Amino acid sequence: MSTKRDYYEVLGVSRDADTEEIKKAYRKLAMQYHPDRNKGDAAAEEKFKEVGEAYAVLSDTDKRARYDRFGHAGAGAGATGAPGGGFGGFEFDLSDALRQFMEGGFFGGGMFGGRQQSGPMRVRGNDLQMKLALTLEEIAEGVQKKIKVKRYAPCAECGGSGARKGTTKKSCPTCHGTGQVRQVSRSFLGQFVSVQPCPQCRGEGQIISDPCPACKGEGRERSEGVVSVDIPAGVSAGQYLTLRGEGNAGPHGGPSGDLIVLIDETPHDYFTRDGDDIVYTLALTIPQLALGDDVEVPTLTGRARLKIDPGTEPGRVLRMRGKGLKSLHSYGTGDELVEIRLQVPKKLSARERALLNELKESENFRAASADKGFFKRAKSA
Ligand SMILES: [Zn+2]
Ligand SMILES: [Zn+2]
Repeated sequence: MSTKRDYYEVLGVSRDADTEEIKKAYRKLAMQYHPDRNKGDAAAEEKFKEVGEAYAVLSDTDKRARYDRFGHAGAGAGATGAPGGGFGGFEFDLSDALRQFMEGGFFGGGMFGGRQQSGPMRVRGNDLQMKLALTLEEIAEGVQKKIKVKRYAPCAECGGSGARKGTTKKSCPTCHGTGQVRQVSRSFLGQFVSVQPCPQCRGEGQIISDPCPACKGEGRERSEGVVSVDIPAGVSAGQYLTLRGEGNAGPHGGPSGDLIVLIDETPHDYFTRDGDDIVYTLALTIPQLALGDDVEVPTLTGRARLKIDPGTEPGRVLRMRGKGLKSLHSYGTGDELVEIRLQVPKKLSARERALLNELKESENFRAASADKGFFKRAKSA
């Protein structure tokens, strides 16, 4: 994966720029770097793709929010149709950039408003969604996971076309391969021409006369695939990653949908998470707290030594810097917070009992909290 520039920087807008500003900035740059004006200039083409990609993300509220949260890692979000674009690895190619330029709605959106479909249409496969449970250890460092996905894949027999192997699809006689039919209607305002997807070929422009027996002409079949996902360090439950083109294959060779991976956290045996910090409860005895000690505590990567100062009170929270989770947003790493708890023995030997009785009478072991104030308040209440 190449290093990418910040999308806001690419478009030269501030992080709080509104949709209009973003659109304006994109339009200006896209016109400047459009391949028609820069024939054979590879650098201009790169720029054109770069601004296209930046615009694809920043012009979409949902993708922009993900980008703001995850950075480029989250913008797997980006464009349409980039094959194999895993999380953080999506590439916006020239055809994506050109299509976007044409469909960007800059030219009034045509007489029908919005997208104007031209030429045969291919139906995109559905997006799939799945949960992925991660342990805190995996979240701490980031991890590559292989996940099994049950989905539609292009038919192996016909390669997705839906036509019997060795045969080809025929151009649709109704629409002559254009995928569209024109309907002319008259009203008192004049003559209207509307363009509709062809009913015979459902807009695909081609029909199958001899369907593939394996997929019955559908061009896809149920399969189980393995998808590799790179999980960045510091993700949390409820966040999701979009794996472009890893969803269901479209019918008749149509493009695949996306696979949306929803992050879930597996509860840890002894750590709980607090943002980028992890919390551990450490039980110590009276002698350890009173005398101080040097103990070993578990961390996400193994064990670490922790010094307990003499006179440590239960309830104190000791901070082990950098032993938490890597932050998704910055270069920082959270801490491990060790919360001290007092462990009181339930059983005592005769000797322990004698020692404790002796301590009980000793000056520094008299409870200081049962102060006069408390008794006063109790009385008056
Ligand atoms: Zn087939
Ligand atoms: Zn047709």
